Amino acid sequence: MIDKRNFYINGHWIKPDKQNDYYVINPSNERRYAKISLGNNNDVEKAVDAAKNAFISWSQVSKNHKIFLLEKLLKIYKSRWEEITQTMSDEMGAPIDWSSSAQTSSGYDHINDFIKCLKDFDFDKKFDSKSNNLISYEPIGVCALITPWNWPINQITLKVIPALSTGCTMVLKPSEIAPLSGMLFAEIVHEAGFPPGVFNLINGDGEGVGTDLSLHPDIDMISFTGSTRAGKLISKNAASTIKRVCLELGGKGGNIIFADSYNNAIRDGVKNIMSNTGQSCDAPTRMLVEKSIYKRAIEEAADEAKKIKVDIASKKGNHIGPVISKIQYDKIISLIQSGIDEGAKLITGGIDKPEGLAKGYFIRPTIFTNVTNEMRIAREEIFGPVLSIIPFENEDEAIAIVNSTSYGLGNYVQTEDKEKARRVAKKLRSGGVYINGNSAAPGTPFGGYRQSGNGREGGKWGLKEFLEIKTICGWE
Ligand code: NAD
Repeated sequence: MIDKRNFYINGHWIKPDKQNDYYVINPSNERRYAKISLGNNNDVEKAVDAAKNAFISWSQVSKNHKIFLLEKLLKIYKSRWEEITQTMSDEMGAPIDWSSSAQTSSGYDHINDFIKCLKDFDFDKKFDSKSNNLISYEPIGVCALITPWNWPINQITLKVIPALSTGCTMVLKPSEIAPLSGMLFAEIVHEAGFPPGVFNLINGDGEGVGTDLSLHPDIDMISFTGSTRAGKLISKNAASTIKRVCLELGGKGGNIIFADSYNNAIRDGVKNIMSNTGQSCDAPTRMLVEKSIYKRAIEEAADEAKKIKVDIASKKGNHIGPVISKIQYDKIISLIQSGIDEGAKLITGGIDKPEGLAKGYFIRPTIFTNVTNEMRIAREEIFGPVLSIIPFENEDEAIAIVNSTSYGLGNYVQTEDKEKARRVAKKLRSGGVYINGNSAAPGTPFGGYRQSGNGREGGKWGLKEFLEIKTICGWE
């Protein structure tokens, strides 16, 4: 059993105030294989205190020195690539090859992008040539960074690196379900030589450490990625101290496939939702298909889903792994059952385990047709390998269906008609729209409308989340 019960506070790995053991489970075999401790209010106090003290000097460190340390961190990250990959694969079930090519590489890319962005970022700007005013971007202060399990290092780097870059200090609380990659990341930060107290890590759950951080008067900002449910609680708890709250929450992405879309649009849509076993906030979980190609879409989608293999995370090759936990497994299975009960037609997958995988939280790639927008599977975030196919008559109807959700993170449009694609993209209410398989370039902002959140991560927008704006009059 791996013992990882210490916390990283003020540059040292220290024992928790009170031992409160929590087991990390490998979702491929349901075995407990590591032990962490869930922190309490005293641990939070120690970590916040360290971050508060470190802010005094870290906020004044030059941009060049920060770049020097971040470049060192990037090198160390690269040198520990295999370890990071293995850790995420074990803790959250990402198949090993994919863990490397998608999960570990996303962290590397974010560190790299933020370094470039920091180099170009002007923290001080003259307002205009007439006045004597300076507009200064300054670090907001002590930040609590609360992250989920589904893209562990991706989310951690999207928060820790801009916080470090802007001169903030921080307490990271990774997901208690997949905390080990975050702890490994803390080792990397330590090795890079960031001053004690700038970066701290404590483990804990939402009710304990997560709530204590949200309420803490010495925390100036919470950057949170996770469920909309938790985002609402954090916002309420943070309100009493008026701290800034940046939220990256759930989604229920729509993928509009017009009759004139490119050849592989349906197959790509299936692959996209099943990737990461459906555990991505911007997954295209609702496939809207123009009625004239509905029959063909169903055949192609079912055929593509049947090609997707499900297997344990440690096996090499191109397959999907288990879902993260027993809780998520039960939730997904009950949503699949609700689809059946509400009259949707199951064309592939379902509630039975894949053959030969009795142990582990495995779910077969599942597709429903005849889905109406009122059904739970069309409205709720399932966060598993489940796709709903919904027919539409015309452009306006497709847009209305996609927008008729409380979420607004990532939506997709497939058509060869460029004008139509642009028109539809402009009308979709979400932080991202992906046309014909195009993906977001490094350094572009990522985030949601409505109940998908209010923050933007990545690039200069990601830096600005961690900055206050000051007007200094009479600068010259
Ligand atoms: P979750 O909300 O259960 O947990 C996320 C984190 O918040 C964990 O660290 C957890 O301990 C903590 N937490 C839980 N309740 C809390 C509370 N009351 N106060 C403070 N902290 C609390 O989410 P999850 O199951 O870990 O992750 C899946 C969710 O994350 C999905 O809804 C997914 O869509 C969302 N997500 C969003 C993005 C994005 O960028 N928009 C990216 C990845 C995941």
